Amino acid sequence: MPLSFVPSPNIARLKESATLAVAAKARALKAQGIPVIDLGAGEPDFDTPVFIRQAAARAMESGATRYTNTEGILPLREAIAADANRIQVQGTPVTPAEVVVSNGSKQSLYNACVCCFGPGDEVLIPIPSWTSYFEMVELARATAVPVMGDPANSLKVTADMLAAAATPRTKGLMLNSPSNPTGAVYSREELAAILALAATQGWWVIADEIYMRIAYEQRAESVLEIAPARDNIIVVNGVAKAYAMTGWRIGWTIAPAAVSKAMTNFQGHTTSNAAAVSQHAALAALAQRDEADAAVNDMVKAFRQRRDAVVHALSAFPGVRYVHPAGAFYIYVNVAGFRGAADPGAAFASAVLEEQQVAIVPGSAFGTPDWIRASYATTESIAVEGVTRIARCLTA
Ligand code: GLU
Repeated sequence: MPLSFVPSPNIARLKESATLAVAAKARALKAQGIPVIDLGAGEPDFDTPVFIRQAAARAMESGATRYTNTEGILPLREAIAADANRIQVQGTPVTPAEVVVSNGSKQSLYNACVCCFGPGDEVLIPIPSWTSYFEMVELARATAVPVMGDPANSLKVTADMLAAAATPRTKGLMLNSPSNPTGAVYSREELAAILALAATQGWWVIADEIYMRIAYEQRAESVLEIAPARDNIIVVNGVAKAYAMTGWRIGWTIAPAAVSKAMTNFQGHTTSNAAAVSQHAALAALAQRDEADAAVNDMVKAFRQRRDAVVHALSAFPGVRYVHPAGAFYIYVNVAGFRGAADPGAAFASAVLEEQQVAIVPGSAFGTPDWIRASYATTESIAVEGVTRIARCLTA
C-alpha cells in the first residue's frame, strides 16, 4: 500500500512562503505569455556588480570549490566585522568570532530563532512583519506574539506597545528596520527605547538589518550603534539586497560568541558552510570598499527615483492610503473594506492579478490582512504602471 504523507507535528502548521509563492505564480504566468507586472517578491532587478562576479570567477578557478569552515572563511568574517565597525559600534569592536556566515539571511534568522527560543517561550513580532518570522519562531517551537504597529506612526511599534504585549514567558523580539513590508525606518530614539526595554527585561533582540543600506531620508541606524550592550543582541544581515546578490545566498549573524558557537553547531548539522564561491563573492562585495560603495550608491539612487515616482503616481489618487516608504523597496497600501471581503488583502491580490495583471503580496502574509505590499524593485515605468493599476483597482 502506498504510504500517504501525514505531515509531522514539526511542520503541521507550516504555510507556504507567500512572497515566494507570488513570485512563482508571476513567473508561471509570464512563461505562458501573460504580460504580468510583477511587484511581488522583493528582489533587486540589477545584476550583481561586475567586480563581484569577477572575484567569484577568480576564486572558482583558484580552487574555492571545497568545504570551508561551517562558520565561513576567516577573510569574509573579518570583512563582515570590519564592515560592522565602520559605524560607531557601542562598546568593543565587533570581532570575527562573533560572525557566522550562512546560506542567506533567512538561514541566519532561523539559526538564531532555533538557538535562542524553544517550547514555552513567547517571541514578540511587531506587525506588519516579514512573513517568515512567524514560521521560524513556530518551527523553533516557541509562540509568535504579534504586536500591531501604530497606523499613525508608519505602523511601527513603540517600547510601550511591546511592554504591554509581554508576559513572564517573553523571551525575545524580532526587529526589522528598514521594514519589510512597509519601508518604515525606526529612528534612533525609537530603537533606543526598545533596546533599553529588551536589556532590562533580558530579552533576545534579533535585529534583521538586511535593508540597512537602502534608506532615502535619514541613514538607517544599526542596533549595534545604539544598544547599551551586545550580550542580548543578534544582528542579521547579508549581501542579497544591497549588492543585488539574492541568488548567491550569503547572510550572516553578529552575535555573542556563545550564541555564535551554538549557531555554528546547529548549522554544522543542517547545511554546513555556505557555498565557497559565494563566500568569495561576498568577500569582494565587503572588502573592495570603493567599488562596492559606488555600486550600492547607484542602486540606492535608482531605488529612490522609483520610490519618488511611485509616490508621485499615487498622489493622483488621494483616497489611497499607504505607509510613507522611507527605506527598502516596498510600498504598503491599505485596502481595508475591499469589496466587503473577509480578507481584503487576499481579495485585492486576486482581483488586481486577474483584472489588471499586477502581482502583489496580500497583507495577511505579514499579519495585517487590510493591507497589500507592492515591490518597486523593477524599472521605474513598470513600477509606476503597476501602482497606477493598483490604485485604479482600489478606487474603481
Ligand atoms: N525577502 C523577499 C521578500 O519579502 C524575498 C522573498 C522571501 O524570501 O521572502 O519578498
